[in-house]
Amino acid sequence: MSPQEFYIRKTAPARRDLVAYNAAMLKHFGPPPRRPALSAFEAALEVLLGQEALPEGRMEKILRRLRDLRGGAPLTPAFIWRLPRASLEEAIRPLAFFQAKVGRLHNFLAFLARKAGEDEPLEDADLTCLRDSGQGELREELLKIRGIGRESADLILLHALGLPVFAADVRAWRLLHRHGFVGEEAGYEEICDIFIRALPEETPVYAECRRLIARTVRTYCHKRNPDCPACPLREFLE
Ligand code: SF4
Repeated sequence: MSPQEFYIRKTAPARRDLVAYNAAMLKHFGPPPRRPALSAFEAALEVLLGQEALPEGRMEKILRRLRDLRGGAPLTPAFIWRLPRASLEEAIRPLAFFQAKVGRLHNFLAFLARKAGEDEPLEDADLTCLRDSGQGELREELLKIRGIGRESADLILLHALGLPVFAADVRAWRLLHRHGFVGEEAGYEEICDIFIRALPEETPVYAECRRLIARTVRTYCHKRNPDCPACPLREFLE
């Protein structure tokens, strides 16, 4: 049995205090680097471009490239909508699947226009057109947009609109599975529910937890050969 298998086998199901997990990860990695505040639209844009798959700091460069097309000014739905597709693709070319991401972004912009009752999206960096809808209703509407799945919809609610919504992903599943919280077949909603029940229902807590899990799993909890001895969560396996 490898050391990693040993650690995983030693999972103690009784220790299911995800608040303590958060604290351990935060102590290890520290708080996130300071960033200038984003508008709601720019936060949604980051989600749609897949910022969480990137190393920290990489998406800021993409946003800068887009803002440069506007003379450094903050981005708005109307500006991105009117941008020639070739310019938009060129600005986000460093991203994987950049052409598919442009399509997804345009679908979201068309949705914003419909919500505002317009033919084109507005200069609405606060996404005010979304704020009258209830959380559940808005989630359903987002899920109808081609290219937006549950995780992206929940991340838009969380990061762009500041709503206390937990967004699960494969990293959260891997961590919970390896620590004995869930079985291999656990689905998206089950993973979310575990965090929602364990953590205070607060937007910054959910956002921070997600960031810390992403960092922990990316650094230590590899698909093969997790580096448990170096991981800040090793104590929860003992
Ligand atoms: S989260 Fe850390 S301690 Fe837990 S299984 Fe993954 S690498 Fe090991």
